[in-house]
Amino acid sequence: MSPALSTQHSVALVGRPNVGKSRLFNRLVGKRLAIVHGQPGVTRDVKTAEVEEGFMLMDTGGIGLADARVPADLIAAAEEQVFVAIAAAQLLLFVVDGQAGLTALDELIAEQLRSAGKPIIFLINKIDTAAHEDRADDFSQLGFGMPHMISAEQGRGIQGLRDSIVEVLGPKPKADTGSEGEARTKITFVGRPNVGKSSLCNRLLESKRLVVSEVPGTTRDSVELDLDFADEDGSKRGFRLVDTAGVRRRAKMSSSVEYFSSLRSQKAIEQSDVAFLVLDAFEGVTTQDKNLAGEIIEAGRSIAVVVNKWDYALEQFSSQPLSGYEDESDFRSQFELAVRKELFFLPKSPILFVSALTGYCINTLLETAHLLRQRALRPLPTARLNSLIHSSMQQRSPRVIQGKRFKVYYAVQTKTHPHNIRLFCNREAKLEAPYRRYLERVFIKNFDLGGCPIRFSLVGKEKRFSVR
Ligand code: GDP
Ligand code: GDP
Repeated sequence: MSPALSTQHSVALVGRPNVGKSRLFNRLVGKRLAIVHGQPGVTRDVKTAEVEEGFMLMDTGGIGLADARVPADLIAAAEEQVFVAIAAAQLLLFVVDGQAGLTALDELIAEQLRSAGKPIIFLINKIDTAAHEDRADDFSQLGFGMPHMISAEQGRGIQGLRDSIVEVLGPKPKADTGSEGEARTKITFVGRPNVGKSSLCNRLLESKRLVVSEVPGTTRDSVELDLDFADEDGSKRGFRLVDTAGVRRRAKMSSSVEYFSSLRSQKAIEQSDVAFLVLDAFEGVTTQDKNLAGEIIEAGRSIAVVVNKWDYALEQFSSQPLSGYEDESDFRSQFELAVRKELFFLPKSPILFVSALTGYCINTLLETAHLLRQRALRPLPTARLNSLIHSSMQQRSPRVIQGKRFKVYYAVQTKTHPHNIRLFCNREAKLEAPYRRYLERVFIKNFDLGGCPIRFSLVGKEKRFSVR
């Protein structure tokens, strides 16, 4: 998905207060699909809903209105609304009030909309009967051409409006599941020398569930292995191990260490879908591991932590518990806690305890890789995204900085793998790192995205205070 796609098939209602945007929103969404997001009692900046014709409708009318007590506030609020609508929508529906006639604020909004260069459908609302149609003359000076004369209240002219919207939007792009959904899950094992990366790869190659193994080429340069595994139900699932130069050829290599030098793993990380950060059960998390985890997240790859050589722990506890731990499971939870503390910046990654030597829990590797890839490709529905942003921002407000609080008007997913969420906000500089992490945690929890990094791109607008 390209970033431009985020606006595709989204339609925004714009207009000053009381022209009937809300009424029109409900009219277009209809009873059956009136899944306007939101909890009662929560003020909404942008309302969104899916419309039967296959587009997403948004009403930007709520932005800034809560504080609009004087005309200058109203102008500022209108500016913010227009800014969000223009940035977030493919098509703009500009609504004016046929009963009230042309106002200065209508002219101001019209001016801003025109300079946006996006398609606009001009709507004169509250034309409840044919007798009201001559009220349109008042608006001809705005220069938008033939208006749609409608009545949101009576349902007049609504079908014609729907047709026009669909005509401007064109056919809906196909959902992006096809080839990517079918492709192999590319995995790389990342970690310090001797933690057991090669052993883990080799152990996978010996699995009973391996149905085909193509080992392309036998030269030192060959770095990829394609594997097909039988699922529980017998269906095949494809994986590709990236950067496996050390596998099965260790003996021939002068130095296995150089194959996993930082530079090399960086390239492997970029080429993979899922990176397994392999730790040694004895050594825990080192500074180098932290750096590697950082690199993986920086590259936007999904990440799981693999604690290898767990056979040592199992063996130890089968004879005599280590002092300070009740049993193996207690040791495991403490170990996991320590890993989470050291790698606090991980996106709630799965932590797997395995042994390449004995094959203990080796199946969880591919199951997890498959799961993480599915999570990384998950679409995040706009309405849910927005209701989540609103509720979580209510639950925990951002800090006030220089008299202002960071505020998000509208959020939309612009990309998967890695997830990119675009936030339309008042002032971008005000999203601080801890709050960013808080939002990330909320999304990971609610959309079940554990292991997938989330990126936020902020689109902010400084208020111009164009008081007149
Ligand atoms: P918004 O502030 O632009 O969202 O406007 P609302 O949808 O809240 O409508 C403002 C007022 O105009 C309400 O009292 C509506 O009942 C009224 N209204 C909306 N559409 C129509 C219409 O088509 N005809 C008439 N006569 N009144 C309307
Ligand atoms: P790499 O450098 O990360 O590829 O690590 P290797 O796969 O070469 O393993 C380094 C050493 O650890 C070898 O001597 C392996 O036999 C040993 N090793 C790897 N995995 C395990 C394991 O699960 N348990 C035990 N006990 N030893 C392991």
